Amino acid sequence: MQSFEKTIDKLRREGFKLTLQRMAVIKYMLGNREHPSALAIHRELKRRYRSLSFSTVYNTLNVLGQIDEVQPLHIMDGQLNYDPNTEPHFHFYCNGCGTIHDIFMDEHGEIRVPEKEIEGHAIDSCQVVFRGTCRNCLQEGNF
Ligand SMILES: [Zn+2]
Ligand SMILES: [Zn+2]
Repeated sequence: MQSFEKTIDKLRREGFKLTLQRMAVIKYMLGNREHPSALAIHRELKRRYRSLSFSTVYNTLNVLGQIDEVQPLHIMDGQLNYDPNTEPHFHFYCNGCGTIHDIFMDEHGEIRVPEKEIEGHAIDSCQVVFRGTCRNCLQEGNF
């Protein structure tokens, strides 16, 4: 998701009806680095939009996923987390606090997939998950 306006335009072209509540979900996701779940987004936005239903949040995320404006992440069992950064990148999930960190590939990269593994394939997305304990949790003994 690059900009609010572009996402809104795309949704209009898809014939998606834009309500205030749906726009609030889109605004919440724009530039969000937390990889929130639908439940977490609902919990957060309900403070301001009291009549906001969970299904409005979930359906909006679903549509955003269909038009490639968010990437649903299968990191935890029975729950999706959503990332507005749809560029291929890795994630590191902390077992201690549940935070999901981005890990990017740089072109000379610390993290590289051996060339012969990817040769001839077109990779559209990448959902490798690193699991372990983050440095904060290690320090606090939270594991
Ligand atoms: Zn942690
Ligand atoms: Zn991410």
